Amino acid sequence: MNSNEIEIHKELKKYFGFSQFKGLQEQVITSILDKKNTFVIMPTGGGKSLCYQLPALIQEGTAIVVSPLIALMKNQVDAIRSLSSENGIAHVLNSSLTKTEIAQVKKDISSGLTKLLYVAPESLTKEEYVAFLQSVPISFVAIDEAHCISEWGHDFRPEYRNLRSIIKQLGKVPIIGLTATATPKVQEDILKNLDMSDANTFKASFNRPNLYYEVRTKTKSIESDIIRFIKQHKGKSGIIYCLSRKKVESIAEVLQVNGISAVPYHAGLDAKTRAKHQDMFLMEDVDVVVATIAFGMGIDKPDVRFVIHHDIPKSLESYYQETGRAGRDGGEGHCLAYYSYKDVEKLEKFMSGKPVAEQEIGFALLQEVVAYAETSMSRRKFLLHYFGEEFDSETGEGADMDDNVRNPKNKIEAKDQVVKLLEIVRDTKHIYKSKEIVFTLIGRINAVIKAHKTDTQPYFGSGSDHDEKYWMALLRQVLVTGYLSKDIETYGVIKITQEGLDFIKSPVSFMMSEDHEYTEADDETVVT
Ligand code: ADP
Repeated sequence: MNSNEIEIHKELKKYFGFSQFKGLQEQVITSILDKKNTFVIMPTGGGKSLCYQLPALIQEGTAIVVSPLIALMKNQVDAIRSLSSENGIAHVLNSSLTKTEIAQVKKDISSGLTKLLYVAPESLTKEEYVAFLQSVPISFVAIDEAHCISEWGHDFRPEYRNLRSIIKQLGKVPIIGLTATATPKVQEDILKNLDMSDANTFKASFNRPNLYYEVRTKTKSIESDIIRFIKQHKGKSGIIYCLSRKKVESIAEVLQVNGISAVPYHAGLDAKTRAKHQDMFLMEDVDVVVATIAFGMGIDKPDVRFVIHHDIPKSLESYYQETGRAGRDGGEGHCLAYYSYKDVEKLEKFMSGKPVAEQEIGFALLQEVVAYAETSMSRRKFLLHYFGEEFDSETGEGADMDDNVRNPKNKIEAKDQVVKLLEIVRDTKHIYKSKEIVFTLIGRINAVIKAHKTDTQPYFGSGSDHDEKYWMALLRQVLVTGYLSKDIETYGVIKITQEGLDFIKSPVSFMMSEDHEYTEADDETVVT
């Protein structure tokens, strides 16, 4: 250890009481102290906050922390204040402050007392604040939840797009972007929008080896299925996510009637009730919270033993975030999702009222959820692939922790079919999404295929010995192996990769898993 390393270890102990850094924290902090633009991608609970809090506390000047949620900012400020005898060490600057309070914040910053200033992105656009911040030393700007900058994230906030130009007005200050959303597309967007392609990037693994992933067909008996599941986990804490408030209420009621201690949580309840229900869950006065996605932000209960998705989520990012609340202590965490294609259609219908670009993105993200739910390969491999991470489903940590791996479907040789599929993608010259590729294989015409005259090509219908479901399943599996790639800019156009071209030249065995059969549920979920 050199003197700098000893120094930051000492500071870690002094401020936070920890004797070791977690994961990549030390490297991140060193990068920030070196005044480098820094990009941190770590799953929730990875310890991102400390990555900017510690360097802020030990450097000259004030660090600006941009964060999208006022409640989270307040929590963080309280936590920092508890580490110091000075209240002024951290402040929030927002529109709810009185003139006197603003004057105090400015005074504390000017005197060098304030080390962390939390601001919402819209407050930063205020000229008055920008002018003030130009006049004081700023150590760096941390942008928390940086995925909000990307339309491809699950939580796009247009105000985040203005951040770069505002930061430029503050002079040459390093930027640190932090996110728990790891898809390659979102990462690229963040770096581009913050104009920091030179950033030191630190990406932690998103693998959660202690989580068990399972998808069940959603049928009419879903409620009794959930009750049975919870009774098998008697006395353990769990969260059930539903997409509508109405469903939250009705499921909570059904559970209560069946002797399970459960409370509802959604944005339609008044603040007092929400806080009460959240506390009851944290204090273990109830076992189960039935909630919309409004529940969970900043909830740090280490021993949540199961997360159930009554309805499928809108994206795999949301799914990962929500399931990530299970097993934070490294113990058991069962993630059970119920899937029915009808839910997908409902979500699509719900999105159809939105602007076209937003719709296209929404559909593409939802398609990934469908692919995840329907896959028969290792769910962990599928999820991690989505986040740009390769996972060895034979030897990787947690490799046997999902339903598909524990109860494998039959595998069948599909070498010749893979060649056929790859050839069609190559020969149709990268114009089609999966649907048209499969239609071309089975020889089905639609308007798009007609417009491109693909139905007149010799290969049209060359895969008609198998059905649509078979080809869709094969296509998904080939995508994950990397012979094909999905172009997200064009909302899902399928392209062949160099490995795919090599496969056509010298094919090898390809054992395909037979896909799951799904029957559809007739459930009354209303999306609100
Ligand atoms: P994230 O923002 O990535 O979701 P947090 O910053 O909230 O993660 O940290 C998650 C938890 O890890 C917190 O309870 C925090 O106190 C703890 N933590 C962070 N760094 C360390 C460390 N070096 N040693 C032990 N615990 C840590």
